[in-house]
This record gives sequence, C-alpha cells and structure tokens, in this order.
Amino acid sequence: MSRWCIGVDLGGTFIKFGLLGADRQASETLQLPTPVNEGGSGVVSQMVAGVRQLMETHQVDLTDVVGIGIGAPGPLDLAEGIVIAMPNIPGMENLRIRDQLAEAIGRPGVLENDANAAAYGEYLCGAGREARDMVMLTLGTGVGSGIVLDGQVLHGAHGIGAELGHMVIEPGGELCGCGQRGCLERYCSATYAARHAATRIEGGEASSLADVLASGGEFTAKDINEARRAGDELAAAVWDRSAYYLALACVNVCRIFDPDEIVLAGGMTRAGDDLMDPIQAHFRRLHWSLTDPMTTIVFSALGDNAGVVGAAGVAWQSLEPDALDQI
Ligand SMILES: [Zn+2]
Repeated sequence: MSRWCIGVDLGGTFIKFGLLGADRQASETLQLPTPVNEGGSGVVSQMVAGVRQLMETHQVDLTDVVGIGIGAPGPLDLAEGIVIAMPNIPGMENLRIRDQLAEAIGRPGVLENDANAAAYGEYLCGAGREARDMVMLTLGTGVGSGIVLDGQVLHGAHGIGAELGHMVIEPGGELCGCGQRGCLERYCSATYAARHAATRIEGGEASSLADVLASGGEFTAKDINEARRAGDELAAAVWDRSAYYLALACVNVCRIFDPDEIVLAGGMTRAGDDLMDPIQAHFRRLHWSLTDPMTTIVFSALGDNAGVVGAAGVAWQSLEPDALDQI
C-alpha cells in the first residue's frame, strides 16, 4: 500500500496540486486557476476541489493520505497556520488556511512559506538531492529564497528568516519596497533587471530595446539577454550587473552557511549558460582566497514543480519525519 502526502502550492495565478510518496516519487501535478476575486473562502474551496480531484485522478484513498502541505506566499503565521496577508490575493487576511483545508479534507495540514517549500522540494527530490546544506534563490518578480540546513528548513527566531532577496548588497543603494536600500532583489530579479534597463534607455542611453519603449511596450529579462547576444552594449551591461550581484550574494551565502549547493531557480535561469557563465566568473573572482570555492552553483531541477513537491515534503517532514529517512 502506498502512502502519500499531498502538496498544494498557492500562487497568485494558479494553485498546483501533487502527491509525494515517502520514497520521494512525485505524481503528475494538477493545476487550477486561483479565484483571486472570491476572497479566502473561494481560495479554500478551490483548494478542497483540487485535492479531491487529485485523489480521484490517482485513485488515492483518504486512509492513504498522511497529510497535506500548503506552500503559500506571505506573510504567514506558520505556527498557527494562518495567512497574515497576501498582497496578490485580496481578502486573505487572517485566514485559517491550514485548518480550514485540513478540516474539509479530514487529514492534518502543515503551512509553509512558498519559497521555503520550493527549496525543500529541490532538496528532497531535485538539484539538492545529494546536498546536506542547500540554499536556493528564485529569480522572478523579486528574489525568493529558502535555506535547508542538515535537512531542516531555516525559519529564524521570528519566522521571517531566509529572506536573501532583502540582503543588503549595495549600501545606500536603490530603495526597495521593504523599506531598506540596496536589497539584492533590486539588482538581479527579472523584474528589476528589465526596469533598470528601461530607466537607462529613458535617460538617453542607446539600445536596440529603445524601440520597444518608444512604442509603449515593455521588455523582459529574456529580451535583455537576446539583445545582449545580438551585440547591444547596454543590454550586456545590465545582464552582467545582475550576474555580478548574484555572484556577490553567493559569496556572502558561502561565508555564512558554507552550503554544498546554491540552487538558482526562476524564469531567468532559462537563459542557461548565458546566465551561469558570468555568475561563475564573478563568483570565482569575488570569492575569498583562503580556500578554493567548494560550494557549487547549479540550476533548479524541478522548475515550477519545486513548490508543490516541497509542500508535500514539508508535510512528510512535519507529520512523519522518519518515513523520508528510510530511503
Ligand atoms: Zn528589500
């Protein structure tokens, strides 16, 4: 008899569902749209519907379900299983998301921050499988991060640790939405790389991307890389700036945690070697000389599924931690 934990990854556009066995085998995932205009009760109803549909598709009986892990953006009260607020989805304030889902399904629930869940997914089943200590950075709208040390997700004393996107890497630098200046995500997230390029073009610098702005359009980090490949100097400078700050962050991560691996995830990593090569070059140059670099920097193996796999993994770890250790 197979036993499963169910993972639910709540995003601003989709909710993803998947099963994870104690042998770390994950099922095909199911995805439903997030009902962003129906408040907390609409979101919980959609989560209940998705969990039931997932169990039916895979012919999983409730008695075979150990528990349900939810990965969600925050801020969250992890101990109480409550959403404090969710900027992308109105009406989620003070929602008892964990217990409402658990009571509807009839199995215990666990709530985890989505970036931590994604890191734990990579640690259990993806790029971090061989690692003991692993740090993940997800380059998207902002920079999400998760830290897994000796098999444990690091939360910090107040549940707000592992926010590496808000590590200050440029004192007195650009103002961040969090209120600090010079945060990592202002320098290397996909969103801010594109915004930085736009600002420089609007300031009068020449670039092949200027036409896009002139016609009222927007471009992405992918467009910057393509322009860079075609010889655009401004695009090359912006791309290299992102790689430089990421490498700087990786050096700092090494000095604090000395992890086996730093895993990079998110849309920008689709650039492959175009991103990895300059990061590695800056990393080797910035790294201290006391030892050779021993931490490896790799790309995510699970991609968009890391969050749902990790949410299920967090449920295993919280409800039956010994089960995962037996393989
Ligand atoms: Zn910040």
